[in-house]
Amino acid sequence: MKPFLPFALPDIHESEITAVADVLRSGWITTGARTREFEAAFASAVSAPHAVMLNSCTAALHLALEALGLQAGDEVVVPTLTFAATAEVVRYFGATPVLVDVRASDHNLSPEAFERAIGPRTRAVLPVHFAGVPCDMDEIVSIARAKGVHVVDDAAHAFPCSYRGRPVGTLADITCFSFYATKTITTGEGGAAVTANEEWAARMRIMALHGISRDAWKRYTAEGSWYYEIVAPGYKYNLTDIASALGLGQLARAHEMLARRRAIAGVYDRALAPLGVFETLVQPADRGNAHHLYVLKLAPGALRIDRAAFLEELKALGIGASVHFIPLHLHPYYRDTFGYTPDALPVARDVYERCFSLPLYSRMTDDDVARVVEAVVDVVARNRR
Ligand SMILES: *Cc1c(COP(=O)(O)O)cnc(C)c1O
Repeated sequence: MKPFLPFALPDIHESEITAVADVLRSGWITTGARTREFEAAFASAVSAPHAVMLNSCTAALHLALEALGLQAGDEVVVPTLTFAATAEVVRYFGATPVLVDVRASDHNLSPEAFERAIGPRTRAVLPVHFAGVPCDMDEIVSIARAKGVHVVDDAAHAFPCSYRGRPVGTLADITCFSFYATKTITTGEGGAAVTANEEWAARMRIMALHGISRDAWKRYTAEGSWYYEIVAPGYKYNLTDIASALGLGQLARAHEMLARRRAIAGVYDRALAPLGVFETLVQPADRGNAHHLYVLKLAPGALRIDRAAFLEELKALGIGASVHFIPLHLHPYYRDTFGYTPDALPVARDVYERCFSLPLYSRMTDDDVARVVEAVVDVVARNRR
């Protein structure tokens, strides 16, 4: 039998390995010139005036809310169908994530659900661009503006991507990206916060490195000085030049890797939709797709097995798959702290029980893609009702 096909693998070129090795040999391995270069290149890639490179998207979300002045007791609207990071950062402040349902068609936050969740203490909303397709941002931003609510995009899935001709990165007050190992571009661990607001950018930059004012990273360079001032109790969220050297290479290939993922998604669409047992995500025509995830849902009653058994059968055929996500309100912490019942957010609960994600990454060969299709076709054939 062929080796197991993992759900995700990073796509790293020899030239990127060389660039990382060059940093290791250079004598400067932490935040420095390569990171400043990565910031400038990434800011330009998303048409944002400011980019702050950080060691994760989680750090970016945390610093974004800090820069916006989130306080204990405030509320932040968060879709329940997301990763742990999106809501935990709200809890860091002693604020409350108000979990809301998603829509079944694209698993994104609907403007109506957002509007209904707004109360007197709502300070921000965190739209998640699920699987790489942007939320209805014009509507979400206009509701937010009318109610004095800040918009922080969780764009962990959505680089590179655009909405009505504008890049993700220009749609919200602050946009947070992830360069985690499985994401569309990677630095191993890494993330970025981008914004058009100079003050928020400066605050995030300071808080990313101990709350030290004035280019703290330069203090060991020739231009730097030993003197520094701590202006706030900050965090340790800076990205290293080792990671940034990899990031610069990944950034240069982001569209090429996207084209490969798009082609693979097209093969899946053509081969799997005709089986008549899956629902696919619907992509509105006015926006792009970063193709981070390929998500299918089992049509109710179409097969004799459930989603868990389906994934077990795929695994037995050597195919890694995953589930995005277990809704936050079903997890013990959010369930017990805030008293959610499973059916409090019924759409997310339903899609969670039926959805799974197939491998979708640029390193997949045509043979890998064919293996995935063959395995899915085989499991369906053996389990049709
Ligand atoms: C991966 C992910 C994050 C966290 O990214 P890190 O860089 O690992 O902190 C946040 N939100 C969503 C939706 C994600 O998928």
